[in-house]
Amino acid sequence: MNTEIIQEILDQYGDRATNSIFERSFYTRDLAPVPELLVGPLFRTLPDIVIRPESTEEVAGIMKTAFKHNVPVTPRAGGSTVYFNSVPIHKGILMDLNVLKGVAAVDETAMTVTVKPATTWIELDRYLSTKGLAPKSFPSSTPAATIGGWFCMMGYGIGSLKYGSLLSQVRSIEVVTPEGEVLHLTKETQPSLDWYAASEGTLGVVTQLEVEVRRRNDMKHFLLQFASPAELRTAMQAIIKAAEVPFNMHFTDQECLKGMNALGIAPGGLTEGYLLAVDYEGSEQELELARTIIQSIAEKTQSVTLLQNETAELEWEEKFKAMRLKRGGPSLLGAEIWLPIKNLPEYLADVQKMSRSYNLDLFSYGHVVTPEYATVMTTFNADELYTIRYIINLSLVKKLHDIGYHYGGCPYGIGLWNAPMVGRIHESSELNKLKKIKSDLDPKGIMNPGKVYRAPFILNPFNYTLAMDVLAGIRKVLGKGW
Ligand SMILES: Cc1cc2nc3c(=O)[nH]c(=O)nc-3n(C[C@H](O)[C@H](O)[C@H](O)COP(=O)(O)OP(=O)(O)OC[C@H]3O[C@@H](n4cnc5c(N)ncnc54)[C@H](O)[C@@H]3O)c2cc1C
Repeated sequence: MNTEIIQEILDQYGDRATNSIFERSFYTRDLAPVPELLVGPLFRTLPDIVIRPESTEEVAGIMKTAFKHNVPVTPRAGGSTVYFNSVPIHKGILMDLNVLKGVAAVDETAMTVTVKPATTWIELDRYLSTKGLAPKSFPSSTPAATIGGWFCMMGYGIGSLKYGSLLSQVRSIEVVTPEGEVLHLTKETQPSLDWYAASEGTLGVVTQLEVEVRRRNDMKHFLLQFASPAELRTAMQAIIKAAEVPFNMHFTDQECLKGMNALGIAPGGLTEGYLLAVDYEGSEQELELARTIIQSIAEKTQSVTLLQNETAELEWEEKFKAMRLKRGGPSLLGAEIWLPIKNLPEYLADVQKMSRSYNLDLFSYGHVVTPEYATVMTTFNADELYTIRYIINLSLVKKLHDIGYHYGGCPYGIGLWNAPMVGRIHESSELNKLKKIKSDLDPKGIMNPGKVYRAPFILNPFNYTLAMDVLAGIRKVLGKGW
């Protein structure tokens, strides 16, 4: 980036812009550690400048400068993604949105809240609780994830089973285009707000969102232990079809339970079985109906145990500790897969075959987020301090995705690292449509370039598959300890 432009920005934004190498270096990574040996030769992750705009007008001003000088812009909010979604790969401007925080308005008649994009879900929840309201859904990364960040990602999590994806709850957005124009969009406008959902910062910067809220209700929690994944699936499907829809439903496989037990964090100290946590929210009558549903499903299933209320409540309390297994680390690698629930037992069986053939422990857990789909996370422990070993182990993430794909699944979220598998996520006609939207809305390709629509050449599907399969072959030969 031209030094004159950098100086111009520094003069304009004062201490809300920095070109200090120390400060910029914090933006060269996200939550998932990826060795420098892999990233350094391929990508330019150090931004030229970091700017923290404090208003929509400032975002627009930055975008006008970037557009005029063809400078890449990477928006970043909570930074809680793991596929380099918010890490620049062609340097340029890193737009840190974290000053754009706060609730602009609450409309209790329309039951919506209007928020700035970097408000975190926990901040929103705390604010709404003072008014007897609550978000309809939230991610399990709620303490760090922002409203704008989740909207620009897939937007499924806790509450989605009952209330749908975040996209279905967003009534309107304000967005700044790559040219620096400010647009107010709804589902009826052209462009539609839908286009910006899951766009991962590649179309523009979302600067405000109007989101539906619900009345804050009492909750009731249940925890069921099954002997087999087939019984788990049957119960899940029966619960989904019943008269009262759960707010949240998540599961843990037997290996995950054992792994948690070894760390002293398994619910109720359990060591075996497949766990299903079911959480309801609603009126007294609705919660009573929920209790009868769970009771009758438990009675119909042969080997189920309905665990004590306190254990179920504790499991709900722990809902934001999805990364607990990292304690067995030091690092955790894994694949998050959008998987049809009907194929869950077969997926888990193949994961266990893989566990045996690569001689490593694989832990699976997930959230049921629609009546048909779950987001399933399968993880294993690794050690980022041993670079070569860690890179070889990264190939097993692709092997897990292969199992998911075999059972009708695909990666959940794209960024850079899942871009080689974008053909598994979108049909080619759908992908062409998305590419057309991208070229119409961002004609110079300056918004978060190199992600989402196609992998950079070095990571094209052929190179990626070949490299990962060779590394996985080496990993298989090397066996345990790798
Ligand atoms: C423990 C854990 C649990 C998680 N649970 C869930 C879950 O339940 N469901 C789920 O979907 N994900 C989950 N995630 C992934 C991640 O936390 C979410 O996708 C989260 O919503 C990302 O928000 P963020 O503010 O951290 O966004 P960032 O990581 O900062 O950004 C995400 C993407 O959006 C873009 N972006 C961010 N803000 C804007 C904006 N205002 N305008 C334009 N582009 C923008 C960025 O460029 C980037 O591409 C989890 C992650 C962890 C570590």
